[in-house]
Amino acid sequence: MAVFGLIDGNSFYCAAERAFAPELRGVPLVVLSNNDGCAIARTAEAKAMGIKMGEPWHLAQRRAECKAVEWRSSNYPLYGDMSRRMYEVLAARVPQVEPYSIDEMFLDLTGLPDVERLCHRLRDEVRRIAKIPTCVGIGPTKTIAKLANRIAKDDVALNGVCDLRGEADRTRYYAELSISRVWGIGSKTAATLQNLGIVSIADFIKLAPEQVRDVLTVTGARVQAELRGQSCLPFTLMPPPRQGIAVTRSFGQMANTWGQLREAVAAFATRAAEKLRAEGLEAGHLSVFAHTNPHNGDPWYSASRAAQIEPTSDTLALLSETMRLLHACWRPGHRYFKAGVMLANLTPARQQGQMFATRDTVKSARAMAALDAVNARFGRGMLRPAATGTAMAWKSRQAQHSPRYTTRAEEMLVATAF
Ligand SMILES: [Mg+2]
Repeated sequence: MAVFGLIDGNSFYCAAERAFAPELRGVPLVVLSNNDGCAIARTAEAKAMGIKMGEPWHLAQRRAECKAVEWRSSNYPLYGDMSRRMYEVLAARVPQVEPYSIDEMFLDLTGLPDVERLCHRLRDEVRRIAKIPTCVGIGPTKTIAKLANRIAKDDVALNGVCDLRGEADRTRYYAELSISRVWGIGSKTAATLQNLGIVSIADFIKLAPEQVRDVLTVTGARVQAELRGQSCLPFTLMPPPRQGIAVTRSFGQMANTWGQLREAVAAFATRAAEKLRAEGLEAGHLSVFAHTNPHNGDPWYSASRAAQIEPTSDTLALLSETMRLLHACWRPGHRYFKAGVMLANLTPARQQGQMFATRDTVKSARAMAALDAVNARFGRGMLRPAATGTAMAWKSRQAQHSPRYTTRAEEMLVATAF
């Protein structure tokens, strides 16, 4: 029988902030979305103060009880690197790890002895080495492992690990738990089921599979089979190939002029090209968009342009095409609020020079390798196309950004001896 584990970081972004700032431990803490807008991660202490997920921070801050809450701007380089550390601790200890999101990973525990003890140990080691507190769910299917993880989060008495391999244990929880708690059942689906009198998971698994398929299509039927212990979502060794790479941002400061918009979008194209090369890919399709803010009373203007291009990962080639498309989107007199660059039709980069290429691909590959090497050593953006400018007025507002402790040498934590 297959055994899946699902390990998930508790308040992951907050935990990553606390890993390097002991003064934040035990203190209510929230991490805010881009531009310091809304709460996107909350510690248990912050949840207890009534701060909701997605709550606008400028509103929450006005409440007297929230005055003591610490907050941080989101620091994605740090969170991405903490996720990598968590993955490495796990990959060294179990045969297969499948990342599902930045802080959730499926574990293949099939055939391993004493799975529950192993999971307690994994949890201890992720906490000790990667500094991330987690909970682990265990089950014969991914859906059950996900559910077990949620149970472990909610019930402190379980000590962070919930094992739902046993049918008797499942039956007990299924009778108590609402169907809305299940992975893959959104609020709309839950409402549909509620109208049919299906409230608990136990109610749901009692339905005839044909009926579930009629009401919720084949996806719902799969959820039901998984809850019944039939594994339909196998372990995938390789993450699915990327469909595309997108770099899109809302600006910290509106872009009023062509120069401001051009600099911002040039920076996005540069970043997208870096991501492309980091994955060893080339893009054959490029699209660009820009629009005004739909919520601040400005006249709505939105434009996008796309083009097939000769497959490339060369920053300068992508940049000149991006600028051509962006210029076609540009209309003066608007305050641009958000823009983005999307690369698609991705294929593995070819090693040799192409016979009929219109550019010197060997020279381009060498130049890009040198560019990436300099930026890897001295920090992203050390060497960048002049088109990205120096003002960077488009950068998000991030008033309380913690240091990128683990990915920038100059931001490393310094220990002082007395
Ligand atoms: Mg989590």
